[in-house]
Amino acid sequence: MPALLPLAERKKRAKYVLGALKRLYPNPKPPLHHEDAYTLLVAVALSAQSTDAGVNQATPGLFALADTPKKMAALTPERIHAHIKRVNYAPTKSRNLHAMAQMLMSDFGGKVPQTMEELETLPGVGHKTASVVMSQAFGQATFPVDTHIHRLAQRWKLSAGKNVVVTENDLKEVFPENTWRDVHLQIIYYGREYCTAKGCDGHTCKICKYLNSE
Ligand code: SF4
Repeated sequence: MPALLPLAERKKRAKYVLGALKRLYPNPKPPLHHEDAYTLLVAVALSAQSTDAGVNQATPGLFALADTPKKMAALTPERIHAHIKRVNYAPTKSRNLHAMAQMLMSDFGGKVPQTMEELETLPGVGHKTASVVMSQAFGQATFPVDTHIHRLAQRWKLSAGKNVVVTENDLKEVFPENTWRDVHLQIIYYGREYCTAKGCDGHTCKICKYLNSE
């Protein structure tokens, strides 16, 4: 694992990346279809280890039946499963969505809680899911790191983190807080479109050409 570059150098690189991503994706929208904090929470929980496209195909049918914790809690896990069966890990996710809805009803008055700590107590909700909800539903300054962001942060030498927790902290250091919401989406979009998981010699895109010429 290469050593972490000095902070000033990483900030300079991040500034260039930010400008390039803003030009490519000036107004990035969350990729998962949702209507409110609860439907976003469900969609993000479903998207773990699955594609957003697959989740977006499943959620209209599920939300037509249950778009609130009260309605979801009234379904059985089997009924939930029937609507999400093409999503990866559907049996576990069905049970989690049911248990999550029950907990929202019993502990949170049927509302999605607005702190990371409370969100992470919900069944099937990890740090990344909670971060996405805090950012996209409640406008809080979080930096959800998925596999794309982890990979690109390494390739652009913004982080040398071995895991997403270190990467999250490294990225929070180099991007201004008021950019976190957009830049986390912009990096994901860039990772899907250009900087995919395939190997790369670092000479294909303008971003790396600039960063490697410094
Ligand atoms: S040159 Fe390669 S590593 Fe750099 S941004 Fe493009 S695809 Fe990613």
